[in-house]
Amino acid sequence: MKFAQKWGEGKVKQPLVCELDLTRIQGNGDFPCPNCGVTISPEDETEIVYRILETKVKSQALEELVIQRNKCASQIRLIGFPIPEMDNL
Ligand SMILES: [Zn+2]
Repeated sequence: MKFAQKWGEGKVKQPLVCELDLTRIQGNGDFPCPNCGVTISPEDETEIVYRILETKVKSQALEELVIQRNKCASQIRLIGFPIPEMDNL
């Protein structure tokens, strides 16, 4: 659980903001909430588990995404989105 160790360093009373590099995640992109451990899926569009606070787009590609957990209120900044290959569209 390297994630838990790294994220644990930021445990203070202010809202937790973590940075997560998606290129380090294997599989389908799910990752655990650094605060409460619930599974967060980028495919989840229900906004029950989390909602999107901020998006940064560069050259029509998603560069950065800030999400907030609804229950534990931790914020997670997602980086390292794969660059879409326009030729395949
Ligand atoms: Zn949480």
